[in-house]
Amino acid sequence: MQKRVPSPGFALYFPYPIMTNLIDLTFHELEALIISLDEPPYRARQVWQWLWQKGCRDVAAMTDVSKSLRARLAEVATIIWPKVAREQVSADGTVKFLLALPDGEAVECVLIPERDHYTACLSTQVGCAMGCAFCATGMLGFRRNMTPGEMLGQVLVARWYLLDRGEPLLLRNLVFMGMGEPLLNYENLVQTLEALHHPQGLDFSSRRITISTAGVERHLLDLGRSGLCSLAISLHAPTQALRETIMPGAARLPLPELIALLAQYPLKPRERLTFEYLLLDGVNDSVEDARELVRLLSRLKAKVNLIAYNATPGLPYRPPSPERMFAFQETLKAKGLTTTLRKSKGADIAAACGQLRGECGDLGD
Ligand code: SF4
Repeated sequence: MQKRVPSPGFALYFPYPIMTNLIDLTFHELEALIISLDEPPYRARQVWQWLWQKGCRDVAAMTDVSKSLRARLAEVATIIWPKVAREQVSADGTVKFLLALPDGEAVECVLIPERDHYTACLSTQVGCAMGCAFCATGMLGFRRNMTPGEMLGQVLVARWYLLDRGEPLLLRNLVFMGMGEPLLNYENLVQTLEALHHPQGLDFSSRRITISTAGVERHLLDLGRSGLCSLAISLHAPTQALRETIMPGAARLPLPELIALLAQYPLKPRERLTFEYLLLDGVNDSVEDARELVRLLSRLKAKVNLIAYNATPGLPYRPPSPERMFAFQETLKAKGLTTTLRKSKGADIAAACGQLRGECGDLGD
């Protein structure tokens, strides 16, 4: 088996003691690699298109690239997508992939059917250090960051899953809400977003990409200034005391400080900050909690996505009754807070919010 490099920055391992995974490279790194092989830089554009627009997985198959470049490239580089170790399809059409990574770790990614397109929910870390009490990923603890190629590989797997089946609806939206806290893998995340935007590549617009964070002080405003994506805040508690109980990692940034940071977050005209709020029965779903939430967000241009929790084996939380959820939502609406209430999809295959585990189980490595 070929050895691989766990992060980009191929300059560190020139002259090629091990193989470079081409999807781990930025466009400029690819260009530098091609120049180092005595080829003109414009060849990088051709190779890039093969990687991202044609889903090429074999350097030898890049037929409009010169034979000599293909031969030299194949000596130093390879193309490795995450391997689909398991695929589960929900009654509602949601598809969950268990993806095996080359070092034996695994993550999950979810493809969600919407009315006229698909959305992919992507992971950014193997496990997570934030320790949210309601989350299956949090129970795993932190294993490691995903590389840009591994994050982007999820998009490639999802996109070609649909194309190979002749699915008429396209993968149009990406949400980084799977396993891991995206802002704790910030450099790799930014490289991933830049690759997603590349016009000769997958060409996703920033409006189609949402990063969901529990709140990491050192990168929050940088992400906003980058203009690379929309933001969603995983809030789930209206007070610092409750956040410390159910989101101990996130609560290290006190709620008043998080709100003050968000007040500075650069928004486009008419744009609002999105807050995700999982409703947990008897924990954060009372009318008084809703009033606290209104007070907390009163200074911000905000909208709230309420999500009914899906019970997860091994965790003590339950979804509230429809009546409690309705009362919570009505309290927000009565105070003028824009609110939606939804059930996350894929609950029957443990693909809903908070249910991703990424465990290989009986699949071996
Ligand atoms: S909810 Fe998100 S931040 Fe919290 S433990 Fe799970 S993956 Fe990590």
